[in-house]
Amino acid sequence: MKYKRVLLKLSGEFLGAEDGKGFSPTATESLAREIARARETGVEMGIVVGAGNIWRGTRQGLGMDRATADYIGMLATVMNALALQDALESAGLETRVQTALTITEVAEPYIRRKALRHLEKGRVVIFGGGTGNPFFSTDTAAALRGLEIGADAVLMAKNKVDGVYDSDPRQNPQARRFTELDYLELISRGLQVMDATAVSLCMEAGLPIIVFDIFKPGALLEVLSGEPVGTIIHHKDRR
Ligand code: UDP
Repeated sequence: MKYKRVLLKLSGEFLGAEDGKGFSPTATESLAREIARARETGVEMGIVVGAGNIWRGTRQGLGMDRATADYIGMLATVMNALALQDALESAGLETRVQTALTITEVAEPYIRRKALRHLEKGRVVIFGGGTGNPFFSTDTAAALRGLEIGADAVLMAKNKVDGVYDSDPRQNPQARRFTELDYLELISRGLQVMDATAVSLCMEAGLPIIVFDIFKPGALLEVLSGEPVGTIIHHKDRR
């Protein structure tokens, strides 16, 4: 495997039904299947999960105090972390949930050194609660936790989009997929892969971001073994 330890970012909508809302057992089962196959290779994995299936501070929280709306969003990611944990354990994986906001009745608090120990023991660590701060996103949480656990890459999972395109492949059949991009290219082209705070964190540390389709069977394994699926975002000139 090319990557020994990764941070996987899953959007909340992936846990939802066709409309991306609520929880869908079919969706969580297929995610769990792909993650279990990846774990069989021995790769260590941390996961940051979003909450788009339940609540986004800037959307559902319109008209509310932004910080309050964001705290609701962070709590929603904890619900998703528990749902994902349930699906992963049903698929036979050992897992731990750690949260950035402490809710010790349901999950461990985020303690970096403890998370590292879990990873070394082969447990999948699901990080709930985002960064624990309003005005941030779970993309930024993914970049942050990825750096903290010493991940070799942040894997930005997408649903039925297998990478970064120069235009929307669902609307333009001529759209071209990038196999690689520089962080600065991603920002200057305004490509919506992850928010700018998250990209700049990764850029500063040279942490590669890989965009791929998690629902395509075997794609996660291909990414981990270094096959050129999806799009890799890195320092192009520093390889
Ligand atoms: N959120 C936050 N701080 C964080 C992470 C998340 O305030 O560090 C809130 C924010 O309101 C966000 C919501 O939680 O809209 C859900 O996260 P996100 O939108 O990133 O989820 P995704 O789009 O990945 O499902």
